[in-house]
Amino acid sequence: MSRDRVYCVDCREPIPSDARVCPHCDAVQPSPLVDVGVVVAGVFAFVFGVVLALMTVGTTRLFGFVLVIVGFGLAVGGYTRHLDRQAGRRAR
Ligand SMILES: [Zn+2]
Repeated sequence: MSRDRVYCVDCREPIPSDARVCPHCDAVQPSPLVDVGVVVAGVFAFVFGVVLALMTVGTTRLFGFVLVIVGFGLAVGGYTRHLDRQAGRRAR
């Protein structure tokens, strides 16, 4: 699945999939693991926020709502970034 060719985010040259830095232009490559981490953290914050918002009152409840919004943004944002990169690769 992740064995497909990886291209530099900057110069679009093919690079080894485990390369952290492009050998052509020295651009740092984003790691898919970061996206996964962001999505997982977002989902976790979302679930935790829902629990807080439902189970508590007052300031903690407000904090729960903020967590829901932040978690949702992180999860959707990370997933969108992931999709964008895949679409960029396929368009090549
Ligand atoms: Zn490059």
